[in-house]
Amino acid sequence: MGKLNNPENKYLAISEKPVSDLLRKWISISPVLARTVFRKAAALPAIPVPDTGELVEKRWSYLSKAYSLSYEDPIRMLGSAFQYMYDDRGNAFLDLRNNIPHVGHCHPRVVRAGQQTMAGLNTNTRYLYDEIHSYSEKLLATFPASLNRVFFVNSGSAASDLAIRLARTHTGRKGVMVMEHGYHGNTQTGIKISHHKFAGKAGGGQADHILTVPIPRSGQHLSSGEKDELNEKQLKDFLEIHKNRGTEMAAFITEPIVSAAGQIEIDSNYMQEIYAFIRKHGGLNISDEVQTGFGRLGRWFWGYEQAGVIPDIVVLGKPMGNGHPMAAVVCCETIADSFSKGMEFFSSFGGNPVSCSIGEAVLDVIKAENLAENAKEVGDYIIACFEVLQKNFPCFGEIRGQGLSLGVEIIKEGSPEPDTALATRLVKGLRERNILVGTDGPFDNVFKLKPPLCFTRENADQLISAIREVLD
Ligand code: PMP
Repeated sequence: MGKLNNPENKYLAISEKPVSDLLRKWISISPVLARTVFRKAAALPAIPVPDTGELVEKRWSYLSKAYSLSYEDPIRMLGSAFQYMYDDRGNAFLDLRNNIPHVGHCHPRVVRAGQQTMAGLNTNTRYLYDEIHSYSEKLLATFPASLNRVFFVNSGSAASDLAIRLARTHTGRKGVMVMEHGYHGNTQTGIKISHHKFAGKAGGGQADHILTVPIPRSGQHLSSGEKDELNEKQLKDFLEIHKNRGTEMAAFITEPIVSAAGQIEIDSNYMQEIYAFIRKHGGLNISDEVQTGFGRLGRWFWGYEQAGVIPDIVVLGKPMGNGHPMAAVVCCETIADSFSKGMEFFSSFGGNPVSCSIGEAVLDVIKAENLAENAKEVGDYIIACFEVLQKNFPCFGEIRGQGLSLGVEIIKEGSPEPDTALATRLVKGLRERNILVGTDGPFDNVFKLKPPLCFTRENADQLISAIREVLD
């Protein structure tokens, strides 16, 4: 109360710093381990741990094997806090593989916002309520003035599906141009626009109204000559193919950093040129920011800013609710107007008061805790550490990405060939050292480093020394 009544009085808050430092230290200790130690000291019996094999068997008696399960010896998670996850055996894992708990697992401010609203009001967009206005205003303030309408849904897949519907309604066309290795969602449309899926196992191939453009590498321009994989003539040919199939292009969709390709950044010049090309031919540009949005890239709040372009439609998801299922599509007023001439848009849960409170708390925490700045600083530090590692270990190829959205290629010594086996061994070795890292890319040989944005330099040091240990 003293501090609340006298916020200017620094003396009253003098003991706060060591307390918050201690709490930060504590979250790196597994509560299960602490409980085991305390129970032992108090001569209480240990709490039995279920057999993993039996749990796995149980899981497959309820769930389809279409789901995957990480690690040969899967982990039973019991809790999480900020950048740590806790299993049932007393391990505290450093989580670099989960970009959904964006501001930190179970961030108390986000949890409290959800709990408070949930205990008071939860309803749908057919009523007026303040939470949706307050959140929409804050969310749209992060975009340029032209992007001024928002639709709320519950998953990135529902958002990309809706983005394509909006583009098709607005243009009256059907064709969609997509990026090689892109992934946008699990709906029928989502699979059709995801090269990563339709060209992969049981994918069924590319539909007639879809065209895939090769992923441009850094420094590549549309108009800079024949040696480029993708030039304006090729794009014009693509449009011809579209027309010949009786479909004209409604939209081009891509992520600014193609995640499933192994975090490949699309060159800014290329993005500017392709955006202009698409517009010239009457199509709309869609930026999928499910992975790159909300400050993860550090210098830019949205990934398209890095390329110096402004999309017509933006797809949001994953980090938006820090784990609470919420997603959105942001677009220009004219596109929203075209859509409003058709059927009613309704999503039972999209934009409900609880989700809006949670989304607003996420935005507030990103700002209050300077998380985008932290992503930049710690991301730059991780890149510098890998550059040093690269000098000693020839298995590290390209290091790419921005902020806390990084990809590190694992290659065969003395060649640019992917080394999938080594990448798999590294992931396993890191798990044995309580660090969770994933791989991505068509050869599954690119380390995907996307920790919660509260990740620290000390955490980065922990990662690098564990990698050294595994490689040694
Ligand atoms: N777009 C991108 C870029 C994604 O990475 C994902 C999920 N991995 C989606 C869309 C789909 O989101 P969700 O899983 O929430 O449906």
